[in-house]
Amino acid sequence: MNRKNIRNRKKRKLNIRGKICLLVLILIIVSLVVTKNKKQTEITSLNENKHIIEVTDTYSIKIDIPDSKDENIEKEIKEWVDARKTEFMQSIDNELLKEKQMQYELVINYEQSEYNNIQSTHLVSYMYTGGNHYLRDDQSYYYDLVNNKEVVLTDFLKDKNNFKKIAQLSYFEVMEESEKRKSNLDENWVKDGTEANIENYENFEFNDEGLNVLFPPYQVAPWSEGEIKVVIPYDKIKDIINFEVPENKENEVIKIERNTRDVENLKGKKVIAVTFDDGPSNKTEYLLQELEKEDWKVTFFVLGSRAKEYPELIKKMYKDGHEIGSHTYSHLNLKNLSDYEIYKEINNTNKIIEETIGIKPQYLRPPYGNTNDHIKEIADMTTILWNVDTLDWKSRNEDAVYKEIMKNASDGSIILLHDLYQTSIDGAIKAMKELEKQGYEFVTIDEMFKIKGEEIDKNKSYFNL
Ligand SMILES: [Zn+2]
Repeated sequence: MNRKNIRNRKKRKLNIRGKICLLVLILIIVSLVVTKNKKQTEITSLNENKHIIEVTDTYSIKIDIPDSKDENIEKEIKEWVDARKTEFMQSIDNELLKEKQMQYELVINYEQSEYNNIQSTHLVSYMYTGGNHYLRDDQSYYYDLVNNKEVVLTDFLKDKNNFKKIAQLSYFEVMEESEKRKSNLDENWVKDGTEANIENYENFEFNDEGLNVLFPPYQVAPWSEGEIKVVIPYDKIKDIINFEVPENKENEVIKIERNTRDVENLKGKKVIAVTFDDGPSNKTEYLLQELEKEDWKVTFFVLGSRAKEYPELIKKMYKDGHEIGSHTYSHLNLKNLSDYEIYKEINNTNKIIEETIGIKPQYLRPPYGNTNDHIKEIADMTTILWNVDTLDWKSRNEDAVYKEIMKNASDGSIILLHDLYQTSIDGAIKAMKELEKQGYEFVTIDEMFKIKGEEIDKNKSYFNL
């Protein structure tokens, strides 16, 4: 190879390299121009009114606006969206933007659904104007498709005073969620954010599960917790809302054939309600066998913690026609507990019993008989105390139990016993045999209410009937 050839090859090599460099340069310029154009072009898209997209090199706006079946709501939505946009534009400082090259953002989305002839529209606006995170705004509208009018949460209540009940339940559900998340929310913050005023309940929805309440960030918890959504099941609010609640499908799964009886035949007879607290225990099965032999019905005020351990006994009690009441979950003095702790003691027990037999207990015996109006309001059950205390836990003596019953029992009596001790069971059965001879019938609390024709009042404490 000679010098000339070598030089030519070098030259060709340079030429190819040069062309590649030029091409890359052109590509870079073209892409820069395209990107810049794209950023600077303001695009107002598709449907001018319903979808707004604006992108510049300093900010972007993306808004989706829902249709509503109501003109007024449409107008309100438009006003709300415009207000968000104005707020956003005012927050932007163009000079600062240029320096920092920040991409400011406004995004508005919506969700719309229809349930029970109510159209719900929920809008959320996310605004980024610097700082650590987006600013969020929530706004909802509800339209009654039957009566053609805009409605709010209190329109679904039979009585406006029931709003307090919704607020209380929401508070408990949020605290429960806090526990689930292990986030230890501030109780006072939660209380403030769930208080019964309509501003706190702007975002809700009814569905098959119940009343869903949405608390946007900051309402009940810090931003880091995000939104908190709770469901208040219908069985807790069915008495206070003004529409037919959907059938609970879960309950249909558990169907226990119950050996109940017609209390009509017992009207006018002397009746006694024998009640057993603190169980079930390893003595309960024996008691159930004895009761079955004699065809006597009693009431068991069970502990949630024990009901969980003995589901088969709970099922047998129910199947045999006995009444199952609640004695709370862990037998604490309710007067020493916070509102949420009271709620948990009651609610956890009710859940366990419902999971076992398909229905919730309606009668509550507070541990030590300690209750007050506030506890009753939280529990929302009927309070059953007693007028014959056998002191069986103290005596642990069959004869002493027998004597206490014989001395004090009369028509309408509610007798307190514990199915934890053999002596209690034996003493009770002995007394019941004797009382039966005197013409007494043994009935459950529920049967006794029916036999005595007494209307149940959840604000009262019943010692006898
Ligand atoms: Zn007890």
